Amino acid sequence: MSNPQLSVGLLFTCAIDFRDVARKYAIKNGRNMFIKNEKDKVRVVCSVGCPWVVYAAQVRNEKTFQVRTYHAEHTCGRGLVPTIEELLPNSKHRHCLRHVYNNFKQKFNGLALKDRVCKATSTSNVPSFSRHMKWMKEEDRNAYNWLASKPVVH
Ligand SMILES: [Zn+2]
Repeated sequence: MSNPQLSVGLLFTCAIDFRDVARKYAIKNGRNMFIKNEKDKVRVVCSVGCPWVVYAAQVRNEKTFQVRTYHAEHTCGRGLVPTIEELLPNSKHRHCLRHVYNNFKQKFNGLALKDRVCKATSTSNVPSFSRHMKWMKEEDRNAYNWLASKPVVH
């Protein structure tokens, strides 16, 4: 995944396209970002207190979205990323992953693997989570597939 570059004036074919790039940026940079959709505007903000913002609006009479404002400086630390939900669709909260892990424990054996699942499900840092998941994929594909495909319910 290449690091998406953002700049004022940048054009996107549609709002979805813009949100995609913003999401990739957040994951790639390990940032805690929120996408706010309005009718013909999309604003992406960082964590509370951080001035980082990218704001795109629909070009008049077109589907095209254009970046109008981009403040590239972060004052926040890297860290907590809610997009873990996107890596494990259907999971509402990290808390739920604990339930997954409990089921996982009963289904698969192997201390190293357990340790890895525990680390993967207890991290809220996406790059770290991905690394653990990748390790698991290489180590035990069945276990990985099981975990990745598991819908998480409360
Ligand atoms: Zn920030």
